[in-house]
Amino acid sequence: MSYNLPKPPRFTEVSGAKQWTIHYHNDMARVALSELLETKHLYQKVSVDPKPVANAVSETIVYPADKDAYKIWLAKQREHLKLVPATQPRLTIAGSVSQLLSTLIIDNVKLYCSNCGGREAFAPIWFADTFNSTTRGGTNGYPSTFSAGPDSNMVLIHFQCLICKTRPEILLIERDKWELKLHGRSPMETVEVPHYIPKAESRLYSDGVIAFDSGKTLAALFYLRSFLEQFARRVTGTTEKLRGDELMEKYNEGLPSPQRDWMPSLRDAYEKISIPIHSATDDVATFNDMKAKVDKHFEIRKVHEISEKPPEKPNDKTEEKDSTEHSSPKPDAETASNLGT
Ligand SMILES: [Zn+2]
Repeated sequence: MSYNLPKPPRFTEVSGAKQWTIHYHNDMARVALSELLETKHLYQKVSVDPKPVANAVSETIVYPADKDAYKIWLAKQREHLKLVPATQPRLTIAGSVSQLLSTLIIDNVKLYCSNCGGREAFAPIWFADTFNSTTRGGTNGYPSTFSAGPDSNMVLIHFQCLICKTRPEILLIERDKWELKLHGRSPMETVEVPHYIPKAESRLYSDGVIAFDSGKTLAALFYLRSFLEQFARRVTGTTEKLRGDELMEKYNEGLPSPQRDWMPSLRDAYEKISIPIHSATDDVATFNDMKAKVDKHFEIRKVHEISEKPPEKPNDKTEEKDSTEHSSPKPDAETASNLGT
């Protein structure tokens, strides 16, 4: 995570140095949490590096005795880094002085709203640290002696879209010292699919992207290949059993000839994707390269308005069903069973 830390002022009292440190630690954790929620996917993480704050502050503390006191305080902070989740900075009042507390600040974030069909602002309408014993109904309410310790949280947050205010997105975040990890979400994440990807098979495409983003590259390759197969089956009107390479060849032959020669070939992409699938390899480079080729192919299809209508069967005039983008694909028995395992 990148963060622009300002230069601290000169500290003639250690309390000021501590407060400055807590303020910027809190702010870095706040930015990191937003980055995790807005840009990362399931089982990914972001880390905060707290050292630059401590180093900068140590340099501007004026008196040596304060420097020593700061060092001792910092070591204690590091050992038990407590960050209590809240939607605003938390203060404690000691005498007439208010002091900032270490807090994991939960901001509004931009998430994809499937109801609104775009990225919208979501507000944290409810949250709980499920590692906190009071949240779990006190010591008697939890049938285990497990205690998480102060330097970790397991925070459940309900985020609601500020536009449609429908069912919240529920996210589970684990904090382990200075690391924040996205450990769960409900409902399952949907990704924005490019407009040129046909709607009928877009679920397979988006599941491929989600699998890839979650580090499951082999599953991602399989989804991408299934996407190509199901699309080719629909536009070629193929219902019978046909090997994948034969199906893709049939699709290729059906493309109009001027574009076919210079658009990336789905048949080639299919073959290249199949190699890591057969050897069960998490081949990141192949996924990235082939997805780029697949994207380009569909972009060209859209620009040139290449029809998705299957060719009419000569003997079968009654079956003039228009299989456009909006009809759902017939699940292929073989692929459907593969997906379920
Ligand atoms: Zn919405």
